[in-house]
Amino acid sequence: MSTSESDLRAPFSQDVMKHVVDAHCHPTSATDEEMQKIHSKMFVMSMHDQDQREVKELATKYPKKVVPFFGFHPWFTHFISLKKPCSKEEHYNSLFLPDSPTSQQQEEFDALYAALPEPIFLDDIIPSLRALLESHPTAHVGEVGLDKIFRVSHDYYVSPRTMTTFNIPMDHQIAVLSAQLDLAVELGRNVSMHSVRAQLQTVELLKWHAAKHKERWNRISIQMHSCGLSPQMWKDLERKMCNVFLSVSVLVNKRSSSYQELIKGCSDNRILSESDMNQADQCVALTCEMIRTVGEIKQWEVENDWVGDDEVEEPRWGVVRRLERNAQLFLAGNHMPKGTTQVRYRGPINFDDQDSDAAFTDDGAP
Ligand SMILES: [Zn+2]
Repeated sequence: MSTSESDLRAPFSQDVMKHVVDAHCHPTSATDEEMQKIHSKMFVMSMHDQDQREVKELATKYPKKVVPFFGFHPWFTHFISLKKPCSKEEHYNSLFLPDSPTSQQQEEFDALYAALPEPIFLDDIIPSLRALLESHPTAHVGEVGLDKIFRVSHDYYVSPRTMTTFNIPMDHQIAVLSAQLDLAVELGRNVSMHSVRAQLQTVELLKWHAAKHKERWNRISIQMHSCGLSPQMWKDLERKMCNVFLSVSVLVNKRSSSYQELIKGCSDNRILSESDMNQADQCVALTCEMIRTVGEIKQWEVENDWVGDDEVEEPRWGVVRRLERNAQLFLAGNHMPKGTTQVRYRGPINFDDQDSDAAFTDDGAP
C-alpha cells in the first residue's frame, strides 16, 4: 500500500504530538483557536521589528509551546543603514544604484523610493534587539542570514508580490548578520540561519566567527534552516563545527534532488525538522511529513504511542524522540569539540524551563 500525501501530513497520536518540534516556522498571525489546537512545540521566527512584537506576544501567551526567535531577516536588511548620519536618499541610492545609473534603473528606483521607509541604523537596532533578548531569557536569534537571489519587492505584504530588479548587496547583508551573530555569542543565544545561494559566504562567515569568538562560539548552536548546502558541504561543515544543526523542510529540501543524501549524511544527533510555514495548521502538517521522511531515510520508526525514556533503549528510539532530543541539544548549546568533555543528554526537559542546562551533565572528567 502506498502512502498518500495526506497520510504523510497527518498528525501523530496526541501523546506523540506533544514531543514533535517544528524547529523553524512563522505562525505570527495564528489565532487563539489555532494555537489551542496545536500540541507540538514551535520555534517561532521573526523577520523584522514589527513581527518581533507578534512573536513576543505569542511566546508570552503560549510559553510551553513557543520558543521565540528575534532578529532581522536578510530580505529586510535594506531598511537598515550601516552609517550614521545618512539621509534616506543617500542610503537607498548607495544600496541599489550604480554610480552612473541608466535611465531605466533610475526610473525603477524612483518608483520604489516613495514606498521605502526612513532607514533605521544598525547601531540603534542592535541595542533594541539586545533589550528584547534580555527581557526573554528563553529567546534566541532568528531568522537571520544571507540571500543572494532575493529581489526587493515593491510591497512585501501585497499579493501577488511584484519584484524590482534590485537585490541587497552581499557586503551589506554580511554586516547586518555579523552584528547579530556577535550579539548571539555575547548573550549566549542560539541562531536560526537562512542561507540561499550564498553557501560559500555563509560557511566562510561562520568559520570567521568561530575563529573570532574561540570557545565562546561553541556555547551557542547554529541551525542551518531549510539547509541549502550540498551533502558534501554539510559533512565538511559538521566535521569542522560541533555546534551546527541541519534543519530540513518539505517546502525547500524535498524539492532538491539531493535531500535524501543530505539527510543520510547528517549525524543522527544534528538533524532537526521544520515547516518554515506561516499558517499554523500547515506548520503541524508539514512538520509531520518531514519527520516521516527523516524516519524513512534514517530507518527510524515513527512512534505510535509514547513511552517514558526509561522504557526504551537509545538504539531503539523512534524518529520523534530523536528529533525532540536534537531540538533540546540545540537549545541547550554548550557544545564540546571532539576529544573534550562531551555533553550527555539526561532529558526530557521543559522548553520553558529557564535552567535548561539542568537536564544535561558532563560525561566524564574534562
Ligand atoms: Zn523562515
